[in-house]
Amino acid sequence: RIVVAGSANMDLVGLAPRLPRPGETVLGDDFVMAPGGKGSNQAIAAALAGGATTFLGAIGSDAFGVTLGARLTAAGVDTSRVRTSYGSSGVAVIMVDRDGENSILVSPGANRTFVDLSADERAAIAGADVLLCQQEIPLETVFAALRAGREAGTRTILNAAPAMDLPPGLLDQVDLLVVNEIEAGAIIGRPEPDMAALLDLVPRVVLTLSGAGSRYADRDGRDEQVPAFRVEVADTTAAGDAFTGALAVAWGEGRDLLDAVRWANAAGAVCVQKVGASGALPERAEIEALYGA
Ligand code: ADP
Repeated sequence: RIVVAGSANMDLVGLAPRLPRPGETVLGDDFVMAPGGKGSNQAIAAALAGGATTFLGAIGSDAFGVTLGARLTAAGVDTSRVRTSYGSSGVAVIMVDRDGENSILVSPGANRTFVDLSADERAAIAGADVLLCQQEIPLETVFAALRAGREAGTRTILNAAPAMDLPPGLLDQVDLLVVNEIEAGAIIGRPEPDMAALLDLVPRVVLTLSGAGSRYADRDGRDEQVPAFRVEVADTTAAGDAFTGALAVAWGEGRDLLDAVRWANAAGAVCVQKVGASGALPERAEIEALYGA
């Protein structure tokens, strides 16, 4: 059983010949709306990868909230504990130009109201094999969730994204840290990823390396690069979410972490072959097909 405590956002994506400058109006191309947010995406990724998954988070009382909830449910995620707060859902306003360059404004909306974990939310975390958090909800909630997991003996994973400064002590509650190179740099305070420096802070680290795959290191002295699966890339959006959701599932099944990382690489590689965000997240059979190939 996996619990994801995190964000849910509606992504509003406008395509345009070029990004507007301040004060300017540009006539755009297509518009696409899709459920997103790292928390919701990773919960969907975990459920599709075969994990019994519960999402803890907050959606708004607007129409977007209905769609965000339905998207999770459709993927098989347990949404029975999702909070509905009066007001706007989280929204990401995304503009993309014809070169793929983007500008993104995230309005956290209901995500900002996800504070003060309830007894029911704590019980869900305590009953899980794995708790997975990201950093798009208030950090005090991330901290409280990780602490609740740690106290109950639930394995805790932090995907420290997006990169930001963390309060002292937060990483002490983390069993497995998942970061890309930028997020790793933000944590250790210098650009080159330094596994030893990260292992001073947490017992296990997975560094994702896009097309180069990932790297796993732990305090037992293991440090190994796990190569990516070679595939045709259509769109790398949500690859990190596919990877992290699948990793949580594999670890929750008791697989060795190096094997879990290889399986998660397969999930990321299936995702990059498809265009879209949550729509590109792979099902277990697709992950298995590539992993076994
Ligand atoms: P993020 O988007 O969080 O920075 P990455 O870009 O590192 O995450 O991608 C996450 C994972 O997805 C990688 O570790 C890898 O397993 C897989 N992946 C990403 N890009 C590719 C690619 N071009 N080919 C194969 N696998 C990929």
